[in-house]
Amino acid sequence: MMDVNQPVVLDGATGTELERRGVDIGLPLWSARAILDAPQVLQDVHAAYLDAGARVVTANTFRTHQRSLAKAGMGSRWVELTRRAVDIACAARDSHAPSARIFGSVAPLEDCYRPDLAPAAGVCREAHEAMIRVLVDAGVDGVLIETMCAGREAEAAAEAARDVAPAAWAISFCFQSGSQPGVLLDGTDVQRLMPVLEQAQIVGVNCVAAPEVVEHVGRLRGLVRPEQVVAAYANIGYATPEGAWVTTDAVDPDRYAAYAAEWVSAGASMIGGCCGTTPETIRAIASMLGEPGGSL
Ligand SMILES: [Zn+2]
Repeated sequence: MMDVNQPVVLDGATGTELERRGVDIGLPLWSARAILDAPQVLQDVHAAYLDAGARVVTANTFRTHQRSLAKAGMGSRWVELTRRAVDIACAARDSHAPSARIFGSVAPLEDCYRPDLAPAAGVCREAHEAMIRVLVDAGVDGVLIETMCAGREAEAAAEAARDVAPAAWAISFCFQSGSQPGVLLDGTDVQRLMPVLEQAQIVGVNCVAAPEVVEHVGRLRGLVRPEQVVAAYANIGYATPEGAWVTTDAVDPDRYAAYAAEWVSAGASMIGGCCGTTPETIRAIASMLGEPGGSL
């Protein structure tokens, strides 16, 4: 089990890092395209994060839901692509850091920043349960439900994880910026999701701007039990209305690591990066934590 007193380094962005390395991440396939078109680059991205000190790597399954792939006419291949993504992450792990853990990403079925598009609870439940079953069967060490922006989808995904993920599972939220921390993009206060928070081994905040993360970490830490891990991984940059990511250099790796130190002080013990972060970001975090990689 994870020790809340022993910070663990999570990896950084996959989608934007693939793009930085020249891979097409145009919608609707986004990062899933790399599984077919650039598997070696994808494996190199995972390996770069492990070399930088990450000890948890998230497989590139953010956009391998059947619903996402169907928009590119590839809905029938979602199981194959999900399994391939896990295999690629495992290959990087085996050759670069055999003790690292592989988590499977479980993302919103629709746009991460459009909670109004989240399907009905029953649809979410069925799709996320199917995804989690495939991830577990493919051999992931844990399931990372991430960037959850709508309360009903978060609940549905968590119920699925509770029922079919035998190992560790995590749920991480995309919160609003504003006066009160811990409010999902759809307006749901995270405290209304206490049954979810109580059952997850890891709860977190992700894809929120780095300077805003500390308040959300404090809110989550105040709601969960001492032995539960709080995760934090911020973004650098912003999304355009068309869904593309614009990476800025507003937060360089050292500055990011300084923010991450605040998150640790506020009670987070699983630290990584979301959109716009790079292996250099993760290297700076590992260096800040003093023992590259940490342990599980
Ligand atoms: Zn992100």
